[in-house]
Amino acid sequence: MTVIHKTAEDWRVAPNFTDYDATCAGFDWADVPDVCAGMNTGGGEHGCNIAYAAADRHCDGPQGARTALRFVSDTATDGALSTRDLTYAELGGLARRFTNVLRALGVDKGDRVFTLLGRCPELYITILGALRNGSVVSPLFSAFGPEPIATRMSIGEADVLVTTKAMYDKKIAKVRDRLPSLRHVIVVDDTTAPDAEPATLKFWRWMDASSDDAPIEPTTADDPALLHFTSGTTGTPKGALHVHGAVQMHYITGRYALDLHPDDIYWCTADPGWVTGMSYGVIAPLLHGVTSIVDRAEFDAQRWYQILQTQGVSVWYTAPTAIRMLIKAGPELAAQFQFPKLRFIASVGEPLNAEAVWWGKRVLGLPIHDNWWQTETGGIMVANTPAFDIKPGSMGRPLPGVRAGVVHRRDDGSVEVVEKPDVEGELALRPGWPSMFRGYLNQEERYQRSFADGWYLSGDLAKRDADGYFWFVGRADDVIKSAGHLIGPFEVENALTDHPAVAEAAVIGMPDPTVGEVVKAFVTLKDGYSANEDLELELLGHARKRLGAAVAPKSIEIVDSLPHTRSGKIMRRLLKARELGLPEGDTSTVETVTL
Ligand code: ATP
Ligand code: MG
Repeated sequence: MTVIHKTAEDWRVAPNFTDYDATCAGFDWADVPDVCAGMNTGGGEHGCNIAYAAADRHCDGPQGARTALRFVSDTATDGALSTRDLTYAELGGLARRFTNVLRALGVDKGDRVFTLLGRCPELYITILGALRNGSVVSPLFSAFGPEPIATRMSIGEADVLVTTKAMYDKKIAKVRDRLPSLRHVIVVDDTTAPDAEPATLKFWRWMDASSDDAPIEPTTADDPALLHFTSGTTGTPKGALHVHGAVQMHYITGRYALDLHPDDIYWCTADPGWVTGMSYGVIAPLLHGVTSIVDRAEFDAQRWYQILQTQGVSVWYTAPTAIRMLIKAGPELAAQFQFPKLRFIASVGEPLNAEAVWWGKRVLGLPIHDNWWQTETGGIMVANTPAFDIKPGSMGRPLPGVRAGVVHRRDDGSVEVVEKPDVEGELALRPGWPSMFRGYLNQEERYQRSFADGWYLSGDLAKRDADGYFWFVGRADDVIKSAGHLIGPFEVENALTDHPAVAEAAVIGMPDPTVGEVVKAFVTLKDGYSANEDLELELLGHARKRLGAAVAPKSIEIVDSLPHTRSGKIMRRLLKARELGLPEGDTSTVETVTL
């Protein structure tokens, strides 16, 4: 296996994390509250509040004048991208005003504030202002239709919704009578008309009438702060509740996993409607006082290269689907741009195939660093980081303060920790990291079932090699059992995406009377290749050569697109249900991405 070796020559700035063993051995979460105000888990002057640490504490010093958020407008002028900046002081002031708006409306600590917004300034103002108020923020992805919105808002017992006039009319008005807890709807864009009580309140009218002097609600590390719904890849999305103490994790992982330095220009491409876009698109960069790029438009390969170049992005956090779309757009497009400022690229959300890591090195000049975590973990747990060698295809090693293991569940409910390297089992974590979720909303029993014998069980299968690197095998639900073998879908998909014609691959197990299940693959092709029987045979041969007959797919179907969640993950359960003619289950997050 080829390793990407790192030397000091690969660093444009000295990484924050350079001695793996010493930093992990010396790490203690109890030391973190001292790092900055607002993280004090023991209470103290500012208590523990995500928004205090992310915004308030920066406002008065020199950091106040620094750009916190740079919004790239979705309308281009003369091919140039227009931008609007908010400084730390401006953002903090607006957040304080919004805290007062909530107070004027009688919205208290613990009440639930939902957002249904694109990536506009009001989204960030609402999140921070509500967290300051001690309210619980639940961001919804703005492309959801009325049903997924109504389901999540009723599970979450929303008190307030901040949205746009158009989304209110199209998606909320018709379901509002099903949401008895919803007291106020605030619209951000309709500034002219007076409040159309009782339907909607005008965000900016209420902001203008509020002062920016709003003392922060005294919150503790255990007070609820965020409610995130999972992606719905394996079934109905779950509502995972997080607390203000998670701020320690956001800070530490921003430092070690994303290697944030004070003068970075940082771009997290995830929407704040998903946990990545909140933990690493809103909170971690603000905690570190860097400038974040916020692109208001949807994916477009040329535009993304243009943003990386013209905004001088230095640290970029994105996802495998986006990388695959850039790969598909071809190297010629990338060659029209240069990225002299870019120094670190990370990816999360799905397995990152080895070829994509190499593509980064070839085409962007930097390898892509995969990392692993979940909505439930609230922050990055296992990661490749700037100073350490990458084994392409591996998710890296547990971060300082994270204890990860591979375990086997026993029938009596206990678990056996697998000490031997390279043995597959469930990826498990020792509770104690501060951003661990504190419940699945309305599903206490399911929450309890996620823990056994002092471990949190992730539902993902992985193995750890002799050097301590973790390798993703597949979700426990997706693993294929064939003739006594357990086949991880990622290994097969990785082999298929190694072939130059393949853009994206997904494999499932199809029932078979003799061997239990056989592997079936679905692939999409890169531009310039067309589907035909010869190519199918070639792909089957390619997979067999790489994987051996026992693991290779028995059949391959070349398709135009694969079903993804709106957060960008391939939905294998949907492929399987369609293939077997079974009910499709919860499809509230499905989106068809044409790759
Ligand atoms: P649901 O729980 O509703 O089925 P989901 O698990 O996709 O949805 P998220 O919490 O958004 O919801 O995603 C976390 C999951 O994404 C992980 O459990 C894992 O399966 C996958 N994942 C995240 N990062 C990686 C990675 N680097 N490599 C492989 N898989 C990853
Ligand atoms: Mg999950």
